[in-house]
Amino acid sequence: MNRTAVFPGSFDPVTRGHESIIRRAVPLFDKVIVAIGGNAEKNSFFPLDIRVEWLRKIFNREPKIEITTYSGLTVDFCKEANAGYILRGLRTAADFEFERGIGQMNRLMVPDIETVFLLCEPEYASLSSSIVRDIIRNGGDVKQFVPKGIAVEIRKRG
Ligand code: ADP
Repeated sequence: MNRTAVFPGSFDPVTRGHESIIRRAVPLFDKVIVAIGGNAEKNSFFPLDIRVEWLRKIFNREPKIEITTYSGLTVDFCKEANAGYILRGLRTAADFEFERGIGQMNRLMVPDIETVFLLCEPEYASLSSSIVRDIIRNGGDVKQFVPKGIAVEIRKRG
């Protein structure tokens, strides 16, 4: 059986926390589709095409990782992509409560898609895209928080 996982998110911008979850998922699945949700595009900090470009740059040597965008329900996208798993990262109890609601609702809608959670690495437990955005807005250096090569891209846009 082909094991394909969808890792959905905004990645606005991608952080080392996201990168770590994606890399750790590679040996667990045949394919990992990093899927950027386009639903909240109007309010995004970085444009969708730039977020796609950065993710492709980070994982360009990894044949099992695919980067794409989607709109609509994540479970509908999974069906379209023939993916049986939704991958999510857990940082805190608050993440758990949030994910529990979504995961259980998704399961009621499509019982044959399983949501799989990976606990984040302790050093990334406080790292979020929203804090990274705040640092950028205020002119700080985000190099240690985003994947290699991305801080320079952020600065170029800045
Ligand atoms: P959303 O738009 O759903 O909030 P994000 O783009 O912020 O999504 O994150 C996508 C996924 O990555 C979520 O499962 C989230 O829990 C996980 N994630 C975000 N930050 C981290 C981190 N620092 N460590 C591990 N997982 C993370």
